[in-house]
Amino acid sequence: MEQNYYQREIETMSAEDMKKLQSEKLVKQVKHVYENVPYYKNLMDEKGVTPDDIRSIDDLHKLPFLTKSDLRDAYPYGLLAKPLEDCVRIHSTSGTTGRRVVAFYTQHDVDLWEDCCARAITAVGGTKKDVCQVAYGYGLFTGGFGLNGGSHKVGCLTLPMSSGNTERQVQFMMDLSATILCCTPSYAAYLGESLKEQGYKPEDIPLKAGIFGAEPWTEEMRHQIEETLGIKAYDIYGLTETTGPGVAFECSEQTGMHVNEDHFYAEIIDPDTGEVLPEGSKGELVFTSLDKEAFPLLRYRTRDICVLSRKKCSCGRTLVKMAKPMGRTDDMLIIRGVNVFPSQIETVLLTEGYEPNYQIVVDRVNNNDTFEVNVEMTAAHFTDKVSEILAMEKSLANAMKTMLGINPTVHLVAPKSIARSEGKAVRVIDKRKLI
Ligand code: ADP
Ligand code: ZN
Repeated sequence: MEQNYYQREIETMSAEDMKKLQSEKLVKQVKHVYENVPYYKNLMDEKGVTPDDIRSIDDLHKLPFLTKSDLRDAYPYGLLAKPLEDCVRIHSTSGTTGRRVVAFYTQHDVDLWEDCCARAITAVGGTKKDVCQVAYGYGLFTGGFGLNGGSHKVGCLTLPMSSGNTERQVQFMMDLSATILCCTPSYAAYLGESLKEQGYKPEDIPLKAGIFGAEPWTEEMRHQIEETLGIKAYDIYGLTETTGPGVAFECSEQTGMHVNEDHFYAEIIDPDTGEVLPEGSKGELVFTSLDKEAFPLLRYRTRDICVLSRKKCSCGRTLVKMAKPMGRTDDMLIIRGVNVFPSQIETVLLTEGYEPNYQIVVDRVNNNDTFEVNVEMTAAHFTDKVSEILAMEKSLANAMKTMLGINPTVHLVAPKSIARSEGKAVRVIDKRKLI
């Protein structure tokens, strides 16, 4: 693919210049936060760090971390660094883990966020000639507004569909020849399924690329979406605490996401000790907002488990790359003492020829964990012979046992019986937490 950049100078900047830029921004940002956010000033005071100790990005490790529980303690205004009258927007997390936080934006912050999304759209080949269908939710959730803003900046014709109303999504996509689709990967899979049911073949669908994120998804799911929609499917990452989607985005190489590190500095730490780990190590991703004004979190622990790489990328961008997050520390289920990530189940299902429509149900009976995986039958697997169904369930359970090390009970359920998601999919029902 011919490479286009939205902000070439930044996206292809030398490592040395980038470090200089990050250092200058960090020194200013730490002063701004120290002077305007008493909550963080206290954390710095407790650690015995002052803004004078931070002279370059190499000093970042001296600063204290922020966690989601700090955000809860400081709710709603405790981490605000600008007067409310200078803010123009509020967004909130989608509450996947049950705890919402609110984030504030000045116009400057909205602009830099939209620039990040514009970089993402340009990286997948988007230009002003494209029709960009934004099927992320609009509202408190960041997805819709973020990609909408980026699409405007690139000059695409923007279809602000929001999530849901699948019939209208399909109609507008076909009638208005949408070329880029932005939504969660689970909703993209669902749209693909609906298009297929309505008799559309991949070659009938005008889309050429999709920008999918906001939840974990596997390489197998990428291939499946690419095949059903006849597109290239690209990953995008972000979180409300930093801005929203666009913190990192995938390029033509499709081997991880470039972090917009002129705005968000990424570190990988050992989640147990807090120690910064060298490039290439797996650990918890931590972000520092280098130039956001209203809600500038320093060393925010995302709980996402990830790896960073500075390997040269064929797209020409020099921005550090993050691998697909393999789940969050709090997504990880511990079943019978074994760590299980929903993404591992998804990999098995797609490798075995099933659709990514599944739900994991965990419970505790007589002090023992029960572990069930409900999986939809596909047309290809359909049979009414009980013995065949049992054999398929057993073979899936074996494949999962090989991947996970523990044995689930697999139930094949009727097609369409697991609720489809228009936003982030609900993959896990952990009844143990309700006890
Ligand atoms: P919530 O924590 O309520 O889900 P957000 O809507 O801000 O709040 O979601 C941010 C989180 O979504 C990230 O921390 C990450 O766990 C997940 N996420 C976002 N994009 C991706 C992606 N491309 N791949 C995997 N996980 C993602
Ligand atoms: Zn690249």
